[in-house]
Amino acid sequence: MQFTPEKYRIPDIPMQQFIDSDEIWDYLNSSLSSADRVRDIVNKSLSKKRLNLEETATLINATDTASVELIKEGAKLLKRNIYGNRIVLFAPLYVGNKCSNNCVYCGFRASNKAQVRKTLSNEDLVKEVEALEDEGQKRLILVFGEHAEYSPEFIADSVRATYSVKKGNGEIRRVNINAAPLDIEGYKTVKEAGIGTYQVFQETYHPDAYKKYHHGGRKADYKWRLTALDRAQEAGIDDVGIGALIGLYDWRFEVMGLVRHTNHLEACYNVGPHTISFPRIKDASSLHMGSSYFASDEDFLRMVAILRLAVPYTGMILTAREPAALRDEVIQYGVSQIDGGTKIELGSYTFKEKNENIDRSQFRINDDRSLNDIIDELLDQDMIPSFCTACYRLGRTGEHFMEFSVPGFIKRFCTPNAILTLAEYLFDYAPEQTREKGMMVIEKNLKELSVNIQEEVKKKIARIEQGDRDLFF
Ligand code: SAM
Ligand code: SF4
Repeated sequence: MQFTPEKYRIPDIPMQQFIDSDEIWDYLNSSLSSADRVRDIVNKSLSKKRLNLEETATLINATDTASVELIKEGAKLLKRNIYGNRIVLFAPLYVGNKCSNNCVYCGFRASNKAQVRKTLSNEDLVKEVEALEDEGQKRLILVFGEHAEYSPEFIADSVRATYSVKKGNGEIRRVNINAAPLDIEGYKTVKEAGIGTYQVFQETYHPDAYKKYHHGGRKADYKWRLTALDRAQEAGIDDVGIGALIGLYDWRFEVMGLVRHTNHLEACYNVGPHTISFPRIKDASSLHMGSSYFASDEDFLRMVAILRLAVPYTGMILTAREPAALRDEVIQYGVSQIDGGTKIELGSYTFKEKNENIDRSQFRINDDRSLNDIIDELLDQDMIPSFCTACYRLGRTGEHFMEFSVPGFIKRFCTPNAILTLAEYLFDYAPEQTREKGMMVIEKNLKELSVNIQEEVKKKIARIEQGDRDLFF
């Protein structure tokens, strides 16, 4: 087959269906890989150009050991060269698990009578946020089922309530959302509350597979969901997150879907997604879902590396659904954000419960290290845990793109801000041993910066030590 890169059968028109399954399968069935071709594609990505569908399919089809190594090494190099050794930390906060949909894979589905339903009251929410602030969290994602009770006003009120909680030196500086798709008016309401990213995962980009897993409720409408983030853009939310639930359909198709979705948003709105998520299905309450599409750990690693190369300037999120050892490994291939100290049972940050009762959770998580354990281990690997929210609060949107394309941006802004937020954490929340280790990592990373910036950062660290907070460049 003769490919014309990016020649889509379905044109990019805002709010229109843009996935053509036949086209994706054509690419997957016909893109031939050779060692030279794989090397060329990896080099294209390393020269800061995003890949087209044909190139992505070629990497997916490159399954021989040498090519897989080339892809993984390329992704590692890209991550190291472009993003450096920072990793952004956040925590999910489940606000309500009522749901009128019936997604086969999810513990919250309406037909699951075993699930204990709960919506946090304003008072509960404040307590949860206080408990998260006491741990040192600064960035949260609020998570909701899809239910009439969780209206745009309700979501906006939850965001405002979260921002208003200040305990000691604690505060939440960025509130992201993972909730049902809204209409344009709804998104405007939520935007006014000052949200960070609005995430909607397509779950599977394959329309027939989608039908199999979504019975009844609004979520059964594939196109309503596919165009969710077009509506967010139309409402002025230019910071959106996409995702696919890996295990519903062939992961190779989902990678192509994620890249196609990225291209669509770039073509229509001149801005791609801020983040991409790729959760794998985990055990959930009353879940009886055998899946022939399960992606092994090895496939998962390869998938992350291919995505990193395909969309070099998009943030990539890896959650506590995956076990600690695998997370530590996958991070190297391009992940930029992880959650830490995660609890997904409603109200469990306040009651300090372990994630044990699956009938009170959406699914089972596999990494229940505390935030400090995670920070400690990142420091052992010479990484800088970061709570930075500077770009979003200064209106510097498209920060990943800037990190990627503006020479010196990382050393001027990202590393200094990561260091300052780490210093705050070390002074306010870390046990002594973590503080000492963290200060050594800060010292080491300061040396990589220009003398002027080093001086500016050191002055700010001294101010933090004196009690100033929220200093950034
Ligand atoms: N109710 C909203 C929706 O469906 O868009 C909010 C999302 S839901 C609370 C968050 C995400 O969790 C879903 O989009 C899905 O990808 C993921 N999820 C659902 N069930 C899961 C499972 N069993 N294992 C892992 N992830 C799951
Ligand atoms: Fe409801 Fe979302 Fe779970 Fe589907 S994935 S059942 S919409 S909470």
